[in-house]
Amino acid sequence: METVTPFKEVIDEIKGYGGQAVKYCYQCGKCDTFCPWNKVRKFSMRKLIREATFGLTEIEHEEIWRCTTCGRCALKCPREVKQIEDMRALRRMASGYGVFPAAIKPVRGVSSCLEADGNPFGEPKSARADWAKGLNVKTFEEGMEYLYFPGCYLSYDARLKKVAQATAKVLNKAGVDYGILGPKESCCGESIRKTGNEDLFKHLAKENIKTWIDCGVKKIIVSSPHCLHTFKNEYPDFSANFEIIHISQLLFKLIDEGKLEISKEFAKKVTYHDPCYLGRHNGVYDEPREALKKIPGLELSEMPETREDSFCCGMGGGRIWVETPKEDRFVNLRLEQAVDVGAQVLVTTCPYCITNFEDSRLVLNLDEVIEIKDITEVLQEVI
Ligand code: SF4
Ligand code: SF4
Repeated sequence: METVTPFKEVIDEIKGYGGQAVKYCYQCGKCDTFCPWNKVRKFSMRKLIREATFGLTEIEHEEIWRCTTCGRCALKCPREVKQIEDMRALRRMASGYGVFPAAIKPVRGVSSCLEADGNPFGEPKSARADWAKGLNVKTFEEGMEYLYFPGCYLSYDARLKKVAQATAKVLNKAGVDYGILGPKESCCGESIRKTGNEDLFKHLAKENIKTWIDCGVKKIIVSSPHCLHTFKNEYPDFSANFEIIHISQLLFKLIDEGKLEISKEFAKKVTYHDPCYLGRHNGVYDEPREALKKIPGLELSEMPETREDSFCCGMGGGRIWVETPKEDRFVNLRLEQAVDVGAQVLVTTCPYCITNFEDSRLVLNLDEVIEIKDITEVLQEVI
């Protein structure tokens, strides 16, 4: 039932921005029970949805920027309320009015960098393939089987360049026919879209799609689950239909088909963290685990909240660019879960998760206790 209130204009505006599903909410509160925020502070998606239903949202408040879009509440909601789309709509509205609370202001700088340089760091496009120097990584040419799309963090961030390099070494070893586009690659746009900047997302998406069509790309390997998500589920809105495969899926396939031979042991206790955008949003749970299980000596244990119930690291929804105070870093709890199951290595396969877990390791003085690795970094040690 529609609510008729003096704030109908606001309700219409929310609907106009794509947040119409708020009206299905019947306030059961399940979303709050499963939201990771409530392990560290009070945060109510139920309340935000209620306020939006009545057009009472305080768009200048930080609360509408808190959701990491992890998708856990959406999976539990009995009324199929689209919490993520609703938050995106509210953020679009806030951005439209130029309302950014202090903690969110860095997002404006990120948007400018994305517009100018196609990456959130303000680094030159010309440096996008520097990570690949000396690694025998070819430039993509028509007729190659795969384009490898490392994304922004693996292209520019010092820690994550090591993941791109490990990926190239593993792909080379398996004889995969692939190339990269380097300076012709732009940010996938997934995270900036979650901050409400729809125009910039569209611009980045169209730029990538045009480049891929011009270069004759058909299949794309991605390292980031955020790239996977948007290429697979959002780019088709622009009539783009490419075959997208996450590196963990390809690795499992290569090992399974005998194309990637494992010749050494990895004699360590490992736990695997499901990135939200690989697991919950795209259903990839088994391939990374099965690939790890094929490594001799590797002992895999599961953390308490795993697979569909995976505990978010906190960096999705554009939160990667927002300063999160120490006491609000629920990723610390996740790292403690990994230590509690006796893991010496936390393996995951998302640049945001790796960035955040590496920070937590230092914050919690666990750098001698547990290592953080991408799945490709484990494999490069055993081939
Ligand atoms: S779980 Fe769904 S129906 Fe229940 S309060 Fe949250 S949004 Fe509303
Ligand atoms: S999507 Fe995740 S972070 Fe956002 S409200 Fe739901 S459970 Fe909380």
